[in-house]
Amino acid sequence: TRFTDLGLNDSILSAIAEQGYETPTPIQARAIPQVLAGRDLIGLAQTGTGKTAAFVLPLIHQLLADNKQAPGRSCRALILAPTRELAAQIEEQVRAYTAHTKLTSAVIFGGVKAGPQIRVLARGVDILVATPGRLLDHLGERKARLDLTSFVVLDEADQMLDLGFIPAIRKLLRLVGKERQTLMFSATMVPAIRQLADDFLSNPETVAV
Ligand code: AMP
Repeated sequence: TRFTDLGLNDSILSAIAEQGYETPTPIQARAIPQVLAGRDLIGLAQTGTGKTAAFVLPLIHQLLADNKQAPGRSCRALILAPTRELAAQIEEQVRAYTAHTKLTSAVIFGGVKAGPQIRVLARGVDILVATPGRLLDHLGERKARLDLTSFVVLDEADQMLDLGFIPAIRKLLRLVGKERQTLMFSATMVPAIRQLADDFLSNPETVAV
């Protein structure tokens, strides 16, 4: 498979070429067509397999295809990550892959002042990357809303479990509208993660590498 065979928007293909990527990794080759087809997805893949691009690239394509305005205090797509380091890394990749588009992104995590995050959120962003705790704080204060969000990614779900974030994730997912596409990535499948998928994903396709 080549990237050009996957049906991704030309602006995304240009960004991929600038990153110097020649061919999709196995998780990318198998996950991207499923996401573009609108399927919910469980991706079983370790870090280093190219899993970030496996969800970021088709997510960007979907947002470009469904050209809408990001609602105030909200995001069109939400990516949840267990740690601020990972959240920041994901948003860096989002920025690189959206370089030739008008899509906006932001990252939200704890341990820093809330004010700047609230101001960015107020305008609405296309792609929001967040850690669960700080996002729940903003929601509790009515500085954020998720009811208009139509795309959700849970990255490193097993790590979220280890850090005790599953109750927070469940709270967040209950606030997202039912008309959404949901992806979950995890290095391993354990009962609590399976249960989460059963409760919040709709007829998901599983891709394991
Ligand atoms: P990840 O598994 O998402 O943490 O990605 C691991 C590393 O692989 C990152 O440094 C990416 O920049 C790189 N990468 C992702 N996709 C590709 C690709 N198709 N070809 C070459 N490198 C890639």
